[in-house]
Amino acid sequence: MALESMAISTPQKPAFTRLFLHGGEESQAYYRHAMKWSQEALLREFSNRHRPFSGVSPQDLSELLDSAFREVLPEEASDMQTLVRAIGEVVLQHSIVVSDPSCLAHLHCPPMTAALAAEVMISGSNQSMDSWDQSASATLLEQKMVDWLCERFGYGQRADGVFTSGGTQSNFMGLLLARDRYLQHRFNWQSQRDGLPPEARKLRILCSKQAHFTVRQSAFLLGLGDQAVISVETDERHRMCVKDLDARLQELRDQGLQPFALVATAGTTDFGSIDPLEELAERAMKHQMWYHVDAAYGGALVLSQQHRGKIRGIHLADSLTVDFHKLFYQPISCGAFLLKNRNDFEYIKLHADYLNPEDDEETGIPNLVTKSVQTTRRFDALKLFMSFQATGRKLFGEMIDYTIDLAAQTAQRIKEDPAFELVNEPEMNALVFRYVPQREERSNRVNELIRSILLQEGRAVLARTRVNGRVCLKFTLLNLRTSIQDIQDILSRVKKIGEQIETGMGE
Ligand SMILES: *Cc1c(COP(=O)(O)O)cnc(C)c1O
Repeated sequence: MALESMAISTPQKPAFTRLFLHGGEESQAYYRHAMKWSQEALLREFSNRHRPFSGVSPQDLSELLDSAFREVLPEEASDMQTLVRAIGEVVLQHSIVVSDPSCLAHLHCPPMTAALAAEVMISGSNQSMDSWDQSASATLLEQKMVDWLCERFGYGQRADGVFTSGGTQSNFMGLLLARDRYLQHRFNWQSQRDGLPPEARKLRILCSKQAHFTVRQSAFLLGLGDQAVISVETDERHRMCVKDLDARLQELRDQGLQPFALVATAGTTDFGSIDPLEELAERAMKHQMWYHVDAAYGGALVLSQQHRGKIRGIHLADSLTVDFHKLFYQPISCGAFLLKNRNDFEYIKLHADYLNPEDDEETGIPNLVTKSVQTTRRFDALKLFMSFQATGRKLFGEMIDYTIDLAAQTAQRIKEDPAFELVNEPEMNALVFRYVPQREERSNRVNELIRSILLQEGRAVLARTRVNGRVCLKFTLLNLRTSIQDIQDILSRVKKIGEQIETGMGE
């Protein structure tokens, strides 16, 4: 058939092509409008609010959602502008405003604008990190970021890593490699091929009582069960107690059990406490255990001139977890898993003919899928890269320092006020305390109520935790807009609510 006649017989482009971003005029106009309206909705309904939360109840909000959006997939298309407006008014209005100075509950950060701009390009270009032929420049930029991170954390030439969805995935990967290397070395057993050997029941992971729950979660995902995790006592600063670790190791040895991994935490979720990294490295070496450091939270100290000494020894870890959607101020999700010896990635390597055939490797084509438990994966490295470039080393370091200073000042205020008890001297920027009622036996109830009343009022979002059976309140000071005055106002309000509750309870 002649070319001309083919061209003539090409049908009209169907209506749905304009719904996608490409070079066509109509497509670009549609994109520009959708983006502009969405930005405006975010500026109007979200970043402009003066309280961290509307205070709406789950029941009322559920009704609101049902009446605003009757059908999930309606018969007819909605007009984009009207749709975005409705989402702004119902969804954004009743979201948690992470950038509000009184939003202090979790390791949940306000995202940097540079990263939000990067997100536009990340999602718009939709690269996938699993293979070179789905990403090209993205693969190389992620690798460049990983190399930089490895160097920054003090790792040597043999290190490597990969971006992950966060600490959960990074901790899982650390323990997965730990298990498989141990089985290989100890029993000449290939778990990738043969699953778990009968001896797997004897495997043990040690971590502190304050370690993140994902250590346990990893243990049961890895087929070792909860029983495999031994919780080591913590000292008065909530760090792993080395003496207790030694005692536990001896016990395990006496029972014929096999401790194969030691997990240190650099920045525990509740207290921000940092385990003695160098001493633990020494124990891991002596007992031939894999040493994983969960620095999901505390890894950011590496950027601070003033505080980086607190994570001294972190480079001794066989593997490292770092989260960027916490103290690196990145939008969710963004994290990394770093490995001291890249050869250990062999334990999870698989080859799929369609994705990363072995001959790619021979010709030097990088396919990052071999380093990850994820297949399709976002180009999240770009947002961290763009944030670094747009901020600079000095300012980034100052951001970390600001929040740590603020925590120290807050601790001082709490200690000075007899209405409060400070539970931890903050190592980083997490602070646990409680309101001390007149009658001690009411403490748990009163502190519970204080937190939920603050949330209902939409005045402040605080977290709660339990320390030795006591309900406590918690500030996680990640927000750079939070000032000591904001903290003072919240503390006054906490006190006031506490007094009112007690009055209501009678004598
Ligand atoms: C947040 C956190 C995790 C879990 O990470 P996600 O990014 O939420 O998956 C693990 N460990 C520590 C110490 C954390 O603070």
